[in-house]
Amino acid sequence: MCGIAGYTGKRKASEVVVDGLALLEYRGYDSAGIALFNGQGNLQITKKAGFVSHLKKAVYGKEGCCGIGHTRWATHGIANETNCHPHCHGKFCIVHNGIIENFATLKKSLQKKGKKFLSQTDTEVVAVLLDEFYKGDVLDALGKVAKLLKGSFAIAILCHDFCDRIYFLKKGSPLIVGVGQGENFVASDQLAFVHYTDNVVFLKDNEMGYADSNNVFVFDFCKNKKVLHVEKSNAKADNVAKPPKSFMHKEIFEIPKALRMTANDFFNDEYKKQKAIDIFSKNDKVIMIGCGTAYNACLVGKLVWEKVLHVSAEVDLASEFRYKNPLVSKGTLVVAVSQSGETADTLRATKLAKSKGADVVVITNVAHSSITKNADLVLHTKAGQEVAVAATKSYATQVLLFLCIACVLSKDSKAVKEIKKQIDDLPYLATKALLCDTVVAKKAKEFCKKQGTFFVGRGLDFPLAIEGSLKLKEISYMHSQGFAAGELKHGSIALVDKNVLVVGIITQKKVAEKTINALHEVSCRGAKVLVVTQFDKMANEAGCHDVIKLPGATDLLMPILAVIPLQLFAYHVSVARGINPDKPRNLAKSVTVE
Ligand code: GLU
Repeated sequence: MCGIAGYTGKRKASEVVVDGLALLEYRGYDSAGIALFNGQGNLQITKKAGFVSHLKKAVYGKEGCCGIGHTRWATHGIANETNCHPHCHGKFCIVHNGIIENFATLKKSLQKKGKKFLSQTDTEVVAVLLDEFYKGDVLDALGKVAKLLKGSFAIAILCHDFCDRIYFLKKGSPLIVGVGQGENFVASDQLAFVHYTDNVVFLKDNEMGYADSNNVFVFDFCKNKKVLHVEKSNAKADNVAKPPKSFMHKEIFEIPKALRMTANDFFNDEYKKQKAIDIFSKNDKVIMIGCGTAYNACLVGKLVWEKVLHVSAEVDLASEFRYKNPLVSKGTLVVAVSQSGETADTLRATKLAKSKGADVVVITNVAHSSITKNADLVLHTKAGQEVAVAATKSYATQVLLFLCIACVLSKDSKAVKEIKKQIDDLPYLATKALLCDTVVAKKAKEFCKKQGTFFVGRGLDFPLAIEGSLKLKEISYMHSQGFAAGELKHGSIALVDKNVLVVGIITQKKVAEKTINALHEVSCRGAKVLVVTQFDKMANEAGCHDVIKLPGATDLLMPILAVIPLQLFAYHVSVARGINPDKPRNLAKSVTVE
């Protein structure tokens, strides 16, 4: 989590850095801070709890052409101004993304030497260590400190002795250098400097270096100089312009385009399709891993592959997979899904799978992300930048890629033709599904004060229920749970009364009647029932109170179409409860800490 932005050049660093931080706010927004060298070489620190907009007011117009900033997602120490970055000690001032896992031990031994700490963060220990090791050569100190640190870190550093330089250090968390003319940038994401340059250096793990206005130098931790690989950035400024309603609403409405782009990209790439066939044919075991919404996409992927390819697949939470000594070896295919490609749990799980001899296929929305480095095959969801914290269009495209892969791997040419035709129709059907927005908004207003919401479904509707529930709780703070419809009566129905809303998802013909039964059971116990269905008949039979009708399509497409009203429902409930759906409390877009 967290966003780092740094600038050195001729412009006002305060403005470039704060504007960059605003573009990175999706990564964390507990508090924000900036360190600036003013023209006289003095360091000015400004910190504010809350959004970057608070910092902007405090810092705008301040002099100085070199500075670093940070928008925080706290891991150690509450979100207040004391714990807000930058953290300074002696000649050093730093901003950090990640976790220093051994900070407590390091801190204790530094305290024994009489060092004083001001914050509760893990980060501060790095500033203190740098000052301790510094004997006039910053790179020397950086290399030595880097070797002591356990965990993940991307760190930007200012040193009082070099007031036009930004030093940096990377292991595990993303860090990118933007190369301009007479100016350079350091940031967690290319977006931070998208308005200034499209020349970027993607730093690798175990690299450090520094940038001044005219030069960028990269070294390994032993101070061996490395060759710079400058690449072209794929970030686009227009994706981050603030939309009239919210990013989340805009991004849900981008689903049709995202689906079309993703399908075209996949089907037009002969190399990728052949590689998918080759990898699949040499493995006899499949494990799909992800976290949060990406995990829910895997739950759909498993059912789709079982249905179309007749192969069984395991699905695991990346955070569990990572620590259970998984049964993975040569002959295992691991499919890892991560929107950002930086999700720490998925990243580590993927590395583990690779080290045990598995083939790894990665599904990600970010082409140059860290997870792609461990992959035998990278499949790119072409959803475009997703700014809102809640994943929407990325989920739809992840599920689509599972379907596309099934299409290419299936030996049943008739089935393939049929699925391919359905995929071609998807953007049109998704556009039709979006027409429910007004009705969903009305229902959301009506139900936004309920004590809790249960989402129920069977077959492919079951993972949808879990995803619908996750979306609702993350942005509306309403208690909610997703169930297999048949499971309700085995315990959870005890929670059902008139204060509860039950959302029944009925898109799978074969099990539709069964889900209806579950809805009757909750309805006669007083619950309000809202049905999301593609079947007119089912809606009428459900004895339900409200219906959201989807366009008709074959079962396999429904996890992509039916998620649209569920995402819209979560969005409108959030708005009705007075919450900012783009920036829900305690969350951040990419979870780069374990
Ligand atoms: N671990 C650091 C902190 O809690 C950095 C967290 C982040 O990546 O924002 O301050």
